[in-house]
Amino acid sequence: MYEGPIQDLIDELAKQPGLGPKGAQRIAFHLLAGEKSEIDRLIAALGRVRDDVIFCAECGNVAANRLCRICSDPRRDATKICVVEEPKDVHAIERTKEFTGRYHVLGGALDPLSGIGPDQLRIRELLRRLGNQADGIDVTEVIVATDPNTEGEATATYLQRMLKDFPGLSVTRLASGLPMGGDLEFADELTLGRALSGRRVLA
Ligand SMILES: [Zn+2]
Repeated sequence: MYEGPIQDLIDELAKQPGLGPKGAQRIAFHLLAGEKSEIDRLIAALGRVRDDVIFCAECGNVAANRLCRICSDPRRDATKICVVEEPKDVHAIERTKEFTGRYHVLGGALDPLSGIGPDQLRIRELLRRLGNQADGIDVTEVIVATDPNTEGEATATYLQRMLKDFPGLSVTRLASGLPMGGDLEFADELTLGRALSGRRVLA
């Protein structure tokens, strides 16, 4: 334990995922030893994340404007929607360069034990997108790319049940081969790309 502000900073940093007390301590002392301007830039970036991040009105991805970069790109195929848990999963799938459609970010996965049911996820928004043909384009495929773990599988099953009655819509799931129990973002591009191109229809 240190004294005063440096320990407060270590305590705050250590709460962040993927950063144990050792990593937190390393960052805290790095900041302490560095230029004051580096800390100013970090404070400014944190402030902007707190105040200025917008979520895309269409897909729920992080955005700089009302619509994210992908939803506002007319070259993206509007007939395919890839459903993911978190914005970081959009990033992971974009890295594979295998997908040219649009996304829908649920904001998590079904997890009844933690009180996360369908109403806590952006499922209603997905149904509205599928039912809303105002743009004249019918969605023909929903690719469920939730994480390969218990919650992700439960979410995929639930979505399949909700979407099975949409006419002309096929619901597909990433092929197996992703490390089970894992997180989409930890799969390498090649594995994730293969899982995407080998996706199968959920029946
Ligand atoms: Zn969007």
